[in-house]
Amino acid sequence: MYINGAFVDSVSKKTRNILNPATKEVIATVPEAQIEDVNAAVDAARAAFDGEEWKSKTAQDRQKILFSIAGKIRENFEAFVKLEVENNGKPIREAEFDIDDAASCFEFYAGLATKIHGETMSVPGNSFSYVTREAIGVCAQIIPWNFPFLMCAWKLGPAIAAGNTVVLKPSEVTPLTALFLAQLIDELDIPKGVINIVTGDGPIAGNALISNTKIDKIAFTGGTSTGKYIGKIAAENLKKATLELGGKNPVVIFDDCKMDLAIDWGLFAAFANSGQVCTAGSRILIQDTIYDEFVKQFVARAKNIKVGDGSDAENTMGPIVSQAHFDKIKAYIEVGKSEATLAFGGNSDDSKGFFIEPTIFTNVTPNMRIAREEIFGPVVALLKFSTEEEAIAMANDTEYGLGYGLFTQDVTRVHRVMPKIRAGIGWVNFYHPTFNEMPWGGYKQSGTGRELGLYGIENYLEVKQVNINLDTDPVGWY
Ligand code: NDP
Repeated sequence: MYINGAFVDSVSKKTRNILNPATKEVIATVPEAQIEDVNAAVDAARAAFDGEEWKSKTAQDRQKILFSIAGKIRENFEAFVKLEVENNGKPIREAEFDIDDAASCFEFYAGLATKIHGETMSVPGNSFSYVTREAIGVCAQIIPWNFPFLMCAWKLGPAIAAGNTVVLKPSEVTPLTALFLAQLIDELDIPKGVINIVTGDGPIAGNALISNTKIDKIAFTGGTSTGKYIGKIAAENLKKATLELGGKNPVVIFDDCKMDLAIDWGLFAAFANSGQVCTAGSRILIQDTIYDEFVKQFVARAKNIKVGDGSDAENTMGPIVSQAHFDKIKAYIEVGKSEATLAFGGNSDDSKGFFIEPTIFTNVTPNMRIAREEIFGPVVALLKFSTEEEAIAMANDTEYGLGYGLFTQDVTRVHRVMPKIRAGIGWVNFYHPTFNEMPWGGYKQSGTGRELGLYGIENYLEVKQVNINLDTDPVGWY
């Protein structure tokens, strides 16, 4: 682990084996942080934040630091891709996208570091009144296993740009690219304690981190039930929290769409990263007039997806990240078989790695479990609607509100439908592309706050008002 500028074991000497999900081979052994390790990391981040060295860095210094982190990532691009594929299982082309996007995220926030502005206000009386923005303090950052390195960038980039210090905990199953980044960060001129990375599980290490009262903010990406728990602890300790949680995201296909395009992006929506994406388009709502044709082409094209070890460039869908998650998805496929029609896939094999076929269910109705619950795997539900109003109602008929897609060539329909969908991230005639410049986050049970873009840095800043009396005559109050 990387605590206070040094690579350390857990005080308890406990370790955890890290597996390649495509082969089940042990590819690394990492420390298993216990409460005392996490507390040491928080103390280091606290001391770094409260001390002079980090505070004395200017916005331009922080900008240089973030650009050098991005530079290190780009210099070591191939190594990052290889490690991400081995640890998470995703195909090379997806890992390449993630690593490049992570470097771009650091570059984006490097740019923003020098654009944190204050304001002056006209107030009554003789006061010169202004607003400044300051770093929040020590940030506890907890990230999941589906985009291990990209999530590191989304968390570290804005936090460091704003002048905070951090303790970041990657998922217990995918800590390797975060640790590799620590190695590269160690070569840069960053004061010790500013960035700390602890490896360990959620219930012990994660819990110790979010419960530590010396932190000032929690930033979490993960499942909704864990997010609710973390939100509760944050509320008890009055810590600021941003929560990026799950989704059951609708992709609405109208009959005036370009069918090829809708099939292309519909498959990507459902099966990119083996469906292990918070915005996965796991509910595809298709207008009844084109339902049969869409299903026919969707299934035919799904057959082209090649499932296998992500390190083989021929494979376009990798394994599921872990045995536990594989078992959960398998159970959902059984639920699907009992309530809908299995149109394609459904088979799985965990003899060598955790592989599940792309799985398509048809004749799905809105109240079925596979239409309501987040499966977080390569399982998609195809539903039918007849009118625009029905499509909107079905799209919104979920406790979540993260992503949504529309496929139509009618621009007036786009503007009619968009405002009626209760979700934070919309795509029209494509799906999933993510831009560092744009705010990311959900409505309803999909979380609170926004990451990325200008919105993302706001969540790492305190707002302070300062009022200067320009009237030097005594008032004589008493
Ligand atoms: P979690 O939400 O439990 O894990 C996300 C992160 O939170 C991990 O770093 C995890 O650590 C940590 N964590 C877990 N419990 C605690 C806790 N009590 N205190 C602090 N941190 C904690 O996801 P799971 O891996 O359990 O997956 C469960 C479901 O969540 C998935 O099936 C999927 O539906 C959803 N999910 C959604 C994601 C998203 O991006 N929206 C990402 C991942 C999952 P550790 O991994 O070490 O336990």
